[in-house]
Amino acid sequence: MTPSKNAEIKTLCMNTETQRRKDAKTQRGENSFGQRKSFFLCALASLRLCVSVFIPSVFVSLLIRSVSFLILMGLCSCAKSDDVNQFQQWMTPNGKLKVLSTIAMIDDLVKQVGGEYIDTDTLIKGELDPHSYQLVKGDDEKFAFADLIFYNGLGLEHGPSLQQRLLNDKKVIPLGNLIMQEDKALILHHDRQLDPHIWMDVALWAKTVPYIVEALSTKDPSHADEYRKNGTKLIDSMRQANKEIKQELQTIPSSKRYLVTTHDAFSYFTRAYLAEEGEIDWQLRCAAPEGLAPESQISTTDIQLIIDHLKRYNIHVIFPESNVNKDSIRKVVQAGNEKGLTIRIADIQLYADAMGKPGSDGDSYLKMMRHNAKAIASQLKE
Ligand SMILES: [Zn+2]
Repeated sequence: MTPSKNAEIKTLCMNTETQRRKDAKTQRGENSFGQRKSFFLCALASLRLCVSVFIPSVFVSLLIRSVSFLILMGLCSCAKSDDVNQFQQWMTPNGKLKVLSTIAMIDDLVKQVGGEYIDTDTLIKGELDPHSYQLVKGDDEKFAFADLIFYNGLGLEHGPSLQQRLLNDKKVIPLGNLIMQEDKALILHHDRQLDPHIWMDVALWAKTVPYIVEALSTKDPSHADEYRKNGTKLIDSMRQANKEIKQELQTIPSSKRYLVTTHDAFSYFTRAYLAEEGEIDWQLRCAAPEGLAPESQISTTDIQLIIDHLKRYNIHVIFPESNVNKDSIRKVVQAGNEKGLTIRIADIQLYADAMGKPGSDGDSYLKMMRHNAKAIASQLKE
């Protein structure tokens, strides 16, 4: 091994050891997962460099994959949460395709197309914000282990480290970008920025299914027939749900079909389900104090603009979102009420950038969309 490789390993280990000590300090009294994780990551980094020096390149990928698996199994044995158990299962070599998706709304479709022939995992779990998500320890190993990685694109995953990883990985499939290539007119913009929330229109989201079928079939041709059949079945169920959601929302009188939410995630939803047939100014039917990505603070101008909008269209309810702080809409309600308007926060929250917790009425993609339709219809009809 060259002196520079030795120095690199030493630096990596020193950095990891520093992090390990920091983890131990902050997590003392909780569990030892962070400490053991740092040790295993240090070992993995060292092995990778040794392998790159001594082993011909043709064996490197397989060897790294096996070593990553063994090391991450060690990591997983340190903690017992559901997420870790799912991750442990995903990392077990069993002949199935290993598929990683950035968000749960993609993972849900991929699971249904792949069925029993694939194992899936989601990178951005629970209620984390996909707009700002940055890679954490262990994510690089997930990228290395995956056979295929699906992401939304259209600027959704713009946390710098994740964005960089997606740009540089050859196994990625950018579903939203593929739809845009198919037909630019399907994609909406806000202030010249692409609106990434395409899953909020079920019929539009169904257009990602053929790309998922194609990617799985190319990687695993022996099950291409099954992927195609599952894809067709999934598209049928999405078309049916799309029809029912539209029917439910169109029962709200047109003058009340105005939606105000925390951030601008509902434009595709509004175009598909709240607009009148052929309406040009349908965008006026949705508004939010926060922009395309949830922001922690809003200005007095943002508040005033929303209050003017509420007043102009006689809107009395603002919908909170399951994974976004309610501070901004509380400020709007307070300022509006001080000005004599009757505004309230809906007592039911919508699912926008994250699905619901397991067991909730939003724990699958179609369930979350049906929940949103019911919640909006019940509140706007009042
Ligand atoms: Zn969003």
